[in-house]
Amino acid sequence: MSKSYRVAILGATGAVGTELLELLESRNFPVADLKLLASPQSVGRSLPFQGENLPVEAVSDRALENIDLVLASAGGSISKTWAPVAVNKGAVVIDNSSAFRMNPQVPLVVPEVNPLAAADHQGIIANPNCTTILMTVAIWPLHQISPIKRIVASTYQSASGAGAKAMAEVKTQASAILQGQQPVAEVLPYPLAFNLFPHNSPLNDAGYCEEEMKMVNETRKIFDNQEIRITATCIRVPVLRAHSEAINLEFSQPFNPDTAREILSRAPGVKLLEDWENNYFPMPMEATGRDEVLVGRIRQDISHPCGLELWLCGDQIRKGAALNAVQIAELLVEKNLLQPAKVYASS
Ligand code: NAP
Repeated sequence: MSKSYRVAILGATGAVGTELLELLESRNFPVADLKLLASPQSVGRSLPFQGENLPVEAVSDRALENIDLVLASAGGSISKTWAPVAVNKGAVVIDNSSAFRMNPQVPLVVPEVNPLAAADHQGIIANPNCTTILMTVAIWPLHQISPIKRIVASTYQSASGAGAKAMAEVKTQASAILQGQQPVAEVLPYPLAFNLFPHNSPLNDAGYCEEEMKMVNETRKIFDNQEIRITATCIRVPVLRAHSEAINLEFSQPFNPDTAREILSRAPGVKLLEDWENNYFPMPMEATGRDEVLVGRIRQDISHPCGLELWLCGDQIRKGAALNAVQIAELLVEKNLLQPAKVYASS
C-alpha cells in the first residue's frame, strides 16, 4: 500500500491556504490526516475537505506534533516563528512566505525549473515569490536553448496578491465608486478600484521595492546563475485575481520568435495562447483558476537584434503559490524526500 502523510496547512483560512486545501483534494495528494491552522480569531470556523468539515485550530506547539508536512501560508513572521518548531518536531515545511527564500541552506524550488534543488532540503523548502514563479516557468525553456543575458520585467499584479482581504476591499471600493461614494483603503495603502499604483513593498536605496528585488534575486537563485542582469517594475492593478507580466529578454544571439513559440508550445506548465488575427492573447480573467502560465505576443524586440518580447498571465494564487507548493510536495513524495531533517537549518 502506498504511504500517506499527516499534513498541516498553516494559514488555511487565507487566499493561498484555501487554494492549498482544494489542490490537496483535487490532486489526490496522499493525506492520512489534515490539520487546518490559522490565527486564534479563526478558531470555531471549519472548512470542507473530502466531504467533511474540518475544524480550524490556532497554531501552537501542540498543533505541530506528529505532522509530516506543513504547507505554510500565513506570512513571513509566522513562518519565522513556527517553521523551525515544525521542523524540530520532524515535519518538512514548504513555505510560501519570503522568510527563508534567500537562505543559502534553503532550496528555492520551481518544479518545472530546478526540481533537483529540493533534494538538498534540511527541513524547509521555500516557494518563490508569485511573479518569479510565473516568469521562470515561461523563460526557463528558452534559457536552455540560448542563455538569457538580461531580463526587463514589468508586472501588472492583481489585488489577491495581497491576500483575501485585499481582494474583498477592491470589490467594496468598486461598488462605493459606482454609487458615487469615496473608496476606503484599509488593507492596501491606496484605493485600487479604477486605479493602479507601484507595488507598496519597502523601497531600497536604489529606488527598487522589495517585490522587484525578489524577482531579481530569486530568479538568479533558481537559475543558479548570478550573472543574469535583471530589472523589474512591479505595479498593482485593479484585477481581482491572476498576475500579468511583460517580459523583455536579451540573448547573446538573435532568438527567432517562431523557435520560441515552438519551444514554449511543448514546455511543461506553459500554455501558448496567441491569435494574431483576432488580437487575442493571455488575459488575467482567462488565467484565473488555471494551472498553466499563459504566454503570448512573442515577438522580436525591434530595438535590439538579440531581444525578444513576451507577455504572460498566470494565476498567482495557484501556480504562483499553492500549486507550486503542492507540486513540490508531490516531488518530495515521488523522490522519497518527505523525511524529517537531521539538522535544522536556522534562518
Ligand atoms: P491572507 O489571505 O491574508 O491569509 C493569511 C493567513 O494567515 C490566514 O489564514 C490567517 O488566519 C493566517 N494568519 C494570520 N496571522 C496569523 C497568526 N498570528 N497565526 C497563525 N495564522 C495566522 O494571505 P495570503 O495571500 O494567503 O498569503 C499567505 C502567504 O503566502 C504570505 O506569506 C504571502 O506573501 C504568500 N503568497 C501569497 C500569494 C498571493 O497571491 N496571495 C502569492 C504567493 C505567496 P486568520 O484568517 O485566522 O487571520
